[in-house]
Amino acid sequence: MIKFLNLKKVNEKYEDDLKKSFERVLSSGWYINGNELSEFELNYSQYCGSKYCVGTANGLDALSLIFKAYILMGKLKDGDEVLVPSNTFIASALAVTDNNLKLKLVNCSEETYNIDPESIEKSIGPKTKAILAVHLYGQSCDMNAIKDIADREDLLLIEDAAQAHGAKSEGKRVGSIGDAAGFSFYPGKNLGALGDAGAVTTSDELLAETIRTLVNYGSKVKYEHEFLGVNSRLDELQAAFLSVKLKHIESDISKRREVAKEYINNISNSLIRVPNIKCWDEHVFHLFVVRCNERSRLQDYLSENGVESQIHYPKGIQDHLAYADYEFSEGEKITHDHYSLLSLPISPVMLEADVQKIIALINDFK
Ligand SMILES: *Cc1c(COP(=O)(O)O)cnc(C)c1O
Repeated sequence: MIKFLNLKKVNEKYEDDLKKSFERVLSSGWYINGNELSEFELNYSQYCGSKYCVGTANGLDALSLIFKAYILMGKLKDGDEVLVPSNTFIASALAVTDNNLKLKLVNCSEETYNIDPESIEKSIGPKTKAILAVHLYGQSCDMNAIKDIADREDLLLIEDAAQAHGAKSEGKRVGSIGDAAGFSFYPGKNLGALGDAGAVTTSDELLAETIRTLVNYGSKVKYEHEFLGVNSRLDELQAAFLSVKLKHIESDISKRREVAKEYINNISNSLIRVPNIKCWDEHVFHLFVVRCNERSRLQDYLSENGVESQIHYPKGIQDHLAYADYEFSEGEKITHDHYSLLSLPISPVMLEADVQKIIALINDFK
């Protein structure tokens, strides 16, 4: 069986360094808010090209706390509208609705699967105050066009970069383009911890300060609480593990690109559409998503032949039971088609033979 993602193998590559990090943290006797976190935050902000990085407990908190901080800072208020793509993981939407902000769904581009700048323009109304640009599958949104719109309309531009560590838009790394970005280091992400972890990057000092206070019970000084905060700290052990893996992120991304290139150059079957990549050195291929009108037949066929595949995502945000009672605004019709999308295995540790097996199987699919 070719697994969709073999996490054991992904982490085994760094086993010695991960064990050393564990021993260092264990013997330090210091497990929360210490040097491991500060060091990782510094290195990760430098990697992204942002001034600040604040660790959080997970990616949802990273996104949610950006909105919470903007509310505390008076830049957003109850009922303000945030534009979010309809094809995304539910965390993107929860970060908005958890803060009593209004979710407004926007269509995605048929070409890139990312939020579509033209649809953004059409969706802007008097209450629209922010855009959440989700860099889906490892590819940045069209940030030049989106930033122009945000600047012109005076909207906050927040990046959901949970699937796109290291991805670029016109040479600029995600996490340094919008006003703030949320990252997830969930184990399966391109930069994955050995548990839950996340971070916010921003170059806005006040925002970074506010989030740093929020994650620690709204407290800067022990037992003095400025805000109604939360507990969302990135612990020392996960920070130490992430520092190990951050050192190798570029070579991991290159390996993903090699797999993607093999797929794209060699899959040739009129029933399957591979992604059209404009800029190879900007996409980090968190997922490799093909299109097929007979998706479930293709998925069954792959499974019968020992290949796991997944669907990202089976439902649009508006179709989840969780949002059954949510009033989506008038005229909010999602037209983009996500019923043909299928994600093939891709990772930095995939065997060449497995990639070739998958290509041959797909080419034989009738
Ligand atoms: C994974 C993911 C998140 C949430 O990250 P967690 O660490 O699981 O909370 C948010 N947005 C997107 C697009 C994701 O893929």
